[in-house]
Amino acid sequence: MDISHIEHLGIAVKSIEEQIPYYEQVLGVKCYNIEEVADQKVKTAFFMVGQTKIELLEPTSEESTIAKFIEKRGEGIHHIAFAVKDVQSAIDEAQAKGVRAIDQAPRKGAEGLMIAFLHPKSTNGVLTELCMKPE
Ligand code: ZN
Repeated sequence: MDISHIEHLGIAVKSIEEQIPYYEQVLGVKCYNIEEVADQKVKTAFFMVGQTKIELLEPTSEESTIAKFIEKRGEGIHHIAFAVKDVQSAIDEAQAKGVRAIDQAPRKGAEGLMIAFLHPKSTNGVLTELCMKPE
């Protein structure tokens, strides 16, 4: 699949604003971007840790999958995102190996990345995102 690194960890939170002080004052990592992703009904906040980011995800609607996640499992780690060279070929490879993909084709995520998710039912319970910077 040609994964270069863990691009980010997604963490579901009820309130980005309430969580930022923990990351900035306790962990000492600075929030460098807050962005709303309207079609996913989330607000995101990003922190850089080496070459990996932490992405806080706050639902902006009760319809958001993040709202449903928090309702079911509480706040916490939501997904792991791997940087790949080519999202489409990574999806194709995963599907060829019997893994169910949520996205059949890459779509736009936060920070201008092209992203696709693999289904947690076929990734041992870990919601897995594949992403790349568009060329
Ligand atoms: Zn993500």
